Amino acid sequence: STMPPLLSAIANAGRHGVLAKSAVVMERLAQVDTVALDKTGTLTEGTPRVTDVRPLTESGLDEGKLLALAASAEHPSEHPLARAVVDAAHERGLALATAEDFGSAPGRGVRATVEGHLTEVGSPAHLLPAEDTHAHAVARELENAGRTAVVVLRDGATVGVLGVADRLRPDAAATVAALTRLTGRAPALLTGDNERAARHLAAEVGITDVRAGLLPQDKVAAVRAWEREGRKVLVVGDGVNDAPALAAAHCGVAMGKAGSDLALETADAIVVRDELATVPAVVALSRTARRLVI
Ligand code: ADP
Ligand code: MG
Repeated sequence: STMPPLLSAIANAGRHGVLAKSAVVMERLAQVDTVALDKTGTLTEGTPRVTDVRPLTESGLDEGKLLALAASAEHPSEHPLARAVVDAAHERGLALATAEDFGSAPGRGVRATVEGHLTEVGSPAHLLPAEDTHAHAVARELENAGRTAVVVLRDGATVGVLGVADRLRPDAAATVAALTRLTGRAPALLTGDNERAARHLAAEVGITDVRAGLLPQDKVAAVRAWEREGRKVLVVGDGVNDAPALAAAHCGVAMGKAGSDLALETADAIVVRDELATVPAVVALSRTARRLVI
C-alpha cells in the first residue's frame, strides 16, 4: 500500500489488538530493552476472588458481618481487590451499607465511614499496627499460601483479615518468555502486593527480579533508576497505582479491558484485546517497522 511505514505499523498494531496513541510510540517500543510488569490485573487476570474470611474473635463480628463491613467500604473503589470483596458479599446475599467520606490511597487501600464507624481496608504492611501480632500471624499464614491478605480495621482496631487469590493469565508464561527473547533479559515484576505472594507467582512464569510492597512513587523510582543506567524501559500496568510509572517510562502500555481510566489516559498504548501476549507481538512489530523506515 501507499501508507507510510509508521502509520501502517500503527494499523498493524491495531490488528494485533494494541492501540498506539501516536507513531512515536512505535519508535519508542522498538527501542525498549527492559520490561517491568505490574502484577495484579497485568500478569494476573485481575479478577481475584475472596478465599478466606477470618474475623478476629475479639471483634465480635462473624464472617458475614466482617465481609459486609469490608464490602461496604470497598464499594466505591475500582481496585480489583475491592471488586473481589464486593462480589463475595453479593454472592453471600449480604446487604451493604453506604460508604460516606470515601477515600482511597493507591497501593495501600481504602477508608470510609460505614454506619458511623471509620472503616479501613487494605494492605497489612500499611494498616496493621506492629503490636497486632495475632492479625499479623493470620496475614502471614495467608500470604505464605500465595494469597493477598487484606486487613479490616474499625475505628482503628483490627477486626479481621480476608484472603484473596488471583490467577495468572493463561498467556503470562509465554509472554515472559517472548519478552525475554526480545530484550535479552527477563522482565521484572513491580507490585504493591506483599513479597511472599509476589514471589510465589513470579516463580511460576520465570521472573526472578521481584520488587514488592511498592507504592506508586516507588514504581517510578525503579523505572528512573533503570533509565539512569541508560536503559529504555517499557512498563505494562493497569491500575491507578501504575499511572505515574507508565508516565515516567520510555514507553507505557496499559491493559485496556479492566484498566483504570487514569492508566488508560496516561499510557502511550493500550492493549484493547485482553491478551498480554499482544505486548511482545507489538514490540516485535515495532522493530520491523523501524527497519522499514531506516
Ligand atoms: P499491584 O501493584 O500488584 O497491581 P496495587 O498497588 O494495586 O497492586 O495494590 C497493592 C496493595 O495495596 C494490595 O496488595 C493491597 O494490599 C493494597 N490495596 C490497594 N488498594 C486496595 C483496595 N481497594 N482494597 C484492599 N487492598 C488494597
Ligand atoms: Mg495492577
